[in-house]
Amino acid sequence: MIGFDLTRQQKALQEKARQFSREVILPVAAQHDRDGTFPLDVMEKAHQQGFFTPLVPKEYGGQGLGVLDTCIISEELAAGCMGIYVSIFVSTLALYPIIKFGTERQKERFLKPFCSKFSIASYCLSELTVGSDPASMKTTAVLEGDHYLLNGTKMWITNGGYADFYLVFATTDPEKRHKGIISLIVPSSLEGVSHGEPIDKMGQRASNTTAVTFKNVRVPKENVLAGEGEGFKKAMAALDITRPMIAVGAVGLARTATELATQYAKKRIQFGVPIIQHQTIQFMLADMAKNVEAARLLVWKAAWLADQGIRNSKEAAMAKAFAADAAMQVTTDAVQIYGGMGYTKWHPVEKLMRDAKVIQIYEGSAQIMRLVIARQLLREME
Ligand SMILES: Cc1cc2nc3c(=O)[nH]c(=O)nc-3n(C[C@H](O)[C@H](O)[C@H](O)COP(=O)(O)OP(=O)(O)OC[C@H]3O[C@@H](n4cnc5c(N)ncnc54)[C@H](O)[C@@H]3O)c2cc1C
Repeated sequence: MIGFDLTRQQKALQEKARQFSREVILPVAAQHDRDGTFPLDVMEKAHQQGFFTPLVPKEYGGQGLGVLDTCIISEELAAGCMGIYVSIFVSTLALYPIIKFGTERQKERFLKPFCSKFSIASYCLSELTVGSDPASMKTTAVLEGDHYLLNGTKMWITNGGYADFYLVFATTDPEKRHKGIISLIVPSSLEGVSHGEPIDKMGQRASNTTAVTFKNVRVPKENVLAGEGEGFKKAMAALDITRPMIAVGAVGLARTATELATQYAKKRIQFGVPIIQHQTIQFMLADMAKNVEAARLLVWKAAWLADQGIRNSKEAAMAKAFAADAAMQVTTDAVQIYGGMGYTKWHPVEKLMRDAKVIQIYEGSAQIMRLVIARQLLREME
């Protein structure tokens, strides 16, 4: 049975997120983009609404929602501001491996307090010299009795300056590459944890991005999420669940760009008529709308597969690659439709174009997504 109708609960979630986006996110989006400041008050309100903990089961104080439900909420939040949405989303990226692979004690210790009190989490995989190839990471975790000694610097960490805890990936033996990686839950209060200044970015400037350094940090053994050799596999499994959530952010952003460009084209007069009456403009808008719709459908399929417990690495990569490229194209076209006005800070479309660019880079770059898809295709042909 194939259907695209949302349930009553999904429509209610969509409406709640849409209202939050319009009333809380959108009014401050331009200001935080200009200043590059982190909207902590918006984060707190979003946490109160349960947007930080959609996938956390209700027994631990979360929303107990599915991946598709979360994507429906996420599109609305990102339609207001992708940078603010990403800061909300990253908590799910850090929490999901605990939900999926954590012990009962780890869930009690980390999920419950996170849900009951305003908290922020970060996901620490990348390093300065380690991006697309995380198996070559340099951050080390050395077992010493009842704790691991953690040393290294993670780079590009979203919410890095505000996290209450970090989900950190480190190697117990660099020679073992991905087989030596473990994941540890590292409270930011532990001695030896520090973060750098916010990185001055091109777009998504409301999100806080910093380096995070771990210097001789003693992490209790009980904070290790996955056994040695399992950390990498589990990091990648988590990405299959969270990639549709980033992809749907691109959908929300591209949807906003399409709406703005359509409104502008109806009002802007050239050659005596609104520019929307020129066929080339109509065709650009048609392509924009088509890309938004196609990206959303890929996301929904990848999310639906995840909810059914069916492996979705290929579909999640397809959704992420397509939606990110679509958002880049759609926002570039929105600037084009605005003409010279689009190239100024007087209108929001240039922000959308800057915000779109990094979606092709993080959570697996456009090229790495194609590698994932191609590898899966080859496997299916064997
Ligand atoms: C704003 C922002 C927020 C981020 N947030 C986080 C976060 O919260 N946590 C975290 O861990 N990381 C985060 N990242 C890091 C992000 O995931 C990496 O930037 C990304 O994985 C790419 O790594 P890199 O920048 O080192 O690029 P590189 O891996 O150096 O890649 C450079 C270029 O080479 C291409 N390339 C690399 N390998 C191949 C290949 N095999 N075949 C073809 N092309 C290839 C890439 O696609 C890219 O175009 C963030 C990054 C940014 C910019």
